[in-house]
Amino acid sequence: MKNRECSIVRDILPLYVENVISDDTKQFVDEHLSHCAECKNELKLSQTDIPVKKNCSEKDGGVEVIKKIGLDIKKKRVFTGILSAVISAIVIMLSFAYLTAPEYIPYTESFDIISVKDNNGCVTLSFTGEYEIYQSEQGVYDISIYNTIWNKLFNIEKKQDITVNPNGETVNTIYYVSNGGQDDKVIYGRDPIDNGGVVTLPRLFLNSYFVTAILFALVLAMLVVIFRKKEEKVKAIIVEILFIPISYIVSHIMIKGWNATSYSATRDFYLILLLVIPIYSLFYILYKKEHSKFRH
Ligand SMILES: [Zn+2]
Repeated sequence: MKNRECSIVRDILPLYVENVISDDTKQFVDEHLSHCAECKNELKLSQTDIPVKKNCSEKDGGVEVIKKIGLDIKKKRVFTGILSAVISAIVIMLSFAYLTAPEYIPYTESFDIISVKDNNGCVTLSFTGEYEIYQSEQGVYDISIYNTIWNKLFNIEKKQDITVNPNGETVNTIYYVSNGGQDDKVIYGRDPIDNGGVVTLPRLFLNSYFVTAILFALVLAMLVVIFRKKEEKVKAIIVEILFIPISYIVSHIMIKGWNATSYSATRDFYLILLLVIPIYSLFYILYKKEHSKFRH
């Protein structure tokens, strides 16, 4: 048993001398050396040996090889570190996107989810939840209220009072936008459209961005095929650019699934862009790693 440990320690000793082993391995060697005189002797020999070799012979590749192994180990550790950081970033962003995704609260007549107060032309809305409000045209406002998984999980009840026109702007109409097929409801002012209801449709611009990214990726992929055997450098640059639309496509699918329609398209778009950064980094470092493998 002792002999076997000795031979393991002897194998590690060169790396031990160069100090390129992990703390655990170092501890193991130290422990062994503390009770094995033979190995300790071997260590002394190698410690006096190596500096001499280092100085006088470039031809002797031993030290260089050891150094290279050490460097490779360090590189591997840096690579693993970056890789796990990038993957963590993706997981964190996806969790954030999922937990804060709006679940719109549809308008109901029976249950008062929003109340409107008009104080000398100053219009205040009171409700519980997160909200989106924007002015669709002069004096016409759309408000949506939504909940998030995050708020439900932590029992957060956000009671909010917001003033629609803090600077005294004219407010003609406020629509409550339920999203998801239900008519928009006028909760303040008069309905400028007399006949029938208004439905806010999901915005589709993410759809066209998605298609554009696919086309962009296809063109670049064709260029990669064309330059496959000719120019290594040009090919590498095209591949690096190709990762941009591919990252966008992957990010879109991760955030939206296969559904490109969205009632909260702007939010989704920012999330997709944010997620593109770690996804691109992931492709980039994996590609660089593959590449350097072939070169050596
Ligand atoms: Zn030993």
